[in-house]
Amino acid sequence: MSHAIRIKPASRVDLSSIPTSADGGMTKEEGKARMVELSGEINELQDLLYAAGEQSLLVVFQGMDTAGKDGAIKSVFRSVDPLGVKSWPFKVPTELELAHDFLWRVHAVTPRKGQLAIFNRSHYEDVLVVRVKELVPVKEWRARYDHINAFEKLLADSGTIILKFFLHISKDEQEERLLAREEEVEKAWKLSVGDWKERESWNAYQAAYEDALAKCSTKHAPWYVIPADRKWFRDIAVAETIIETLKSYTDAWRESLDAVGTIRKAEIDAFRSGQGES
Ligand code: ADP
Repeated sequence: MSHAIRIKPASRVDLSSIPTSADGGMTKEEGKARMVELSGEINELQDLLYAAGEQSLLVVFQGMDTAGKDGAIKSVFRSVDPLGVKSWPFKVPTELELAHDFLWRVHAVTPRKGQLAIFNRSHYEDVLVVRVKELVPVKEWRARYDHINAFEKLLADSGTIILKFFLHISKDEQEERLLAREEEVEKAWKLSVGDWKERESWNAYQAAYEDALAKCSTKHAPWYVIPADRKWFRDIAVAETIIETLKSYTDAWRESLDAVGTIRKAEIDAFRSGQGES
């Protein structure tokens, strides 16, 4: 069973009532060992997704600064074959991107059949940072929830399996992580005064997340809240959800692979018997 919290469609979301810290009854050592198994399973499932080529997988990561998007991606997908995976970071839009609708840059990098795409931030920034910093008029970002739902429905109807993870950390944990970055030379590249400034808008971001999660968690593109104060547990909760979801497709993928195998073998047999005749 997955340790992630699935948001029910059209429900109210109160992030303050959802724990940021959980351990699923495991120790850190047990968790790390479990993660090795889970990453192996994800590798096998992704191989099958790739080989069957019938569907694609889109995994979206969102979270406050330092929530661990980079870390989760690195850990959960550590064993997957790079041939079948692309990871896309979404930064401040360029002039060209801003000259289009907000989904233009996103749609361009959605995964083709057989492929896994990982979004490090996503189109949700257009109802998060854009709302908090008032980058467009209220009327404009308000209309975006419906646009997002329609867009994700289109992707799902076209064979994309969509999973969206909100990495949920506490404000105290964020402070600790920001301060820790100042202590470690290897993390100096992540230092940014912007992170401290954004932290001042913590409540506004939480409210924006609550709306995004409530309005855009659908049957075909669910949002999951991941207790993310413990990094090792965060990775397990994400990995379990991906595995649980993909497992419901594997019978169909195997069947279609069997069918392809039968056709290809018949073609080879026909080729061989043709060679015998000449
Ligand atoms: P990250 O924090 O993801 O590791 P950066 O430090 O480069 O990477 O931050 C990317 C920034 O881009 C974030 O502050 C994010 O809010 C911003 N951003 C992403 N999408 C948009 C958008 N649509 N409009 C405005 N800002 C955006």
